[in-house]
Amino acid sequence: MAIQVTRTYVGSIQNHRQVCDGLDSLGDSASKIWNVARWTVDRVWDATGQIPDAGTLKSYMKNQWCWKDLNAQSSQKVIEELSGAFQSWFDLRQKDDTANPPGYRKHGDTRPKSTITFKEDGFKHDPENNRVRLSKGSNLKEHFSDFILCEYQTRPDIDLTAVESVQTVRAVWNGDEWELHFVCKVELETSESAGDEVAGIDLGITNIATVAFPDEYVLYPGKSLKQDKHYFTRTEYETEGENGPSAQSMWARRKLTERETHFYHVLTDAIITECVERGVGTLAVSWPEDVRESDWGKTGNKKLHSWAFDRLYQYLAYKGEERGVEVLKENEWETSKTCSRCGDDTKSNRVERGLYVCSSCELVANADCNGAENMRQKITPSPHGEDRSNGCVAQPSVHLFDRESGTFTPSEQVVS
Ligand SMILES: [Zn+2]
Repeated sequence: MAIQVTRTYVGSIQNHRQVCDGLDSLGDSASKIWNVARWTVDRVWDATGQIPDAGTLKSYMKNQWCWKDLNAQSSQKVIEELSGAFQSWFDLRQKDDTANPPGYRKHGDTRPKSTITFKEDGFKHDPENNRVRLSKGSNLKEHFSDFILCEYQTRPDIDLTAVESVQTVRAVWNGDEWELHFVCKVELETSESAGDEVAGIDLGITNIATVAFPDEYVLYPGKSLKQDKHYFTRTEYETEGENGPSAQSMWARRKLTERETHFYHVLTDAIITECVERGVGTLAVSWPEDVRESDWGKTGNKKLHSWAFDRLYQYLAYKGEERGVEVLKENEWETSKTCSRCGDDTKSNRVERGLYVCSSCELVANADCNGAENMRQKITPSPHGEDRSNGCVAQPSVHLFDRESGTFTPSEQVVS
């Protein structure tokens, strides 16, 4: 069955230097329109005790000079955002009467810049050449056909020539630079469930993902990510000048982020593909509430890791949705302490050098596999591994990221 869904794809702007002034001035205009409309709301409120709705505000704002700084649809969108902000404030006030109404957008160099939205007649997209033309309002045009031409690049696996239609383009300031968000309608062929089998995943640091499939345990180490980090951190360090990060270090940071994103995509693709091939229709993902201390290391940044886990989960969920694998987020509480064979969770069970040792049944297993198996058992009807031989908990196979081919491939079995 085919369904239609909305997806947003991010494009990084390749000719940023040429277009950033233009985008800055559109962003300033959007802030100006917001502020004039915000001020108008106060005046109407004082006079009538009512907050005007989006339609009333729009018809008032059309007579303001700044309205024509942007394409009409872009200006309208700013008013819709303001109305939305007031609506959320009303809703919030039901629970919290100290909540503040939407404020003014401040000027100055550190201000967050306003997003500019371009609807159908505000942009012209040329996906073959990775270009998009964004319109300005008549006030900002130097001549009749003045527009901002952005050259962009998306992630390698995204092909905008293949999407049904791009509905909206947004220019968004990400804190460092402008980027483009393409909001697209996408036809999705939803698959039947991939099968009745269940798999569990343990997310971690050394092994980014450990998957307990019904017939095998697979480890996905994060070694390649670590090497990238080491390399790029050094590049960054070596080029950090007196005045903060240099252009080269900004480049290194961006490069590292791109590589990470790519790695996470390839990893989650590989896992979902394995699920489909093994008839796994349900995948339980650990939600690290009690992540093993030893995993964080001395410099481990818990927040950063949670963020990476969240991203992995999001990727698994949407890739799974397309291919008939339901991805469930399960709390990891106690899964690292419990024995996946006998269910024992006494304190004397321990993890030593990556091995889980059960004092009751004498299981000695890879600790990540034990965690992943516990995740699997949260869903599967036969508890405590009765449906399988636990020998493989100690002998998982390892799939390594191969930089040349950009894929995960099985490596020699390692004994940990
Ligand atoms: Zn046990």
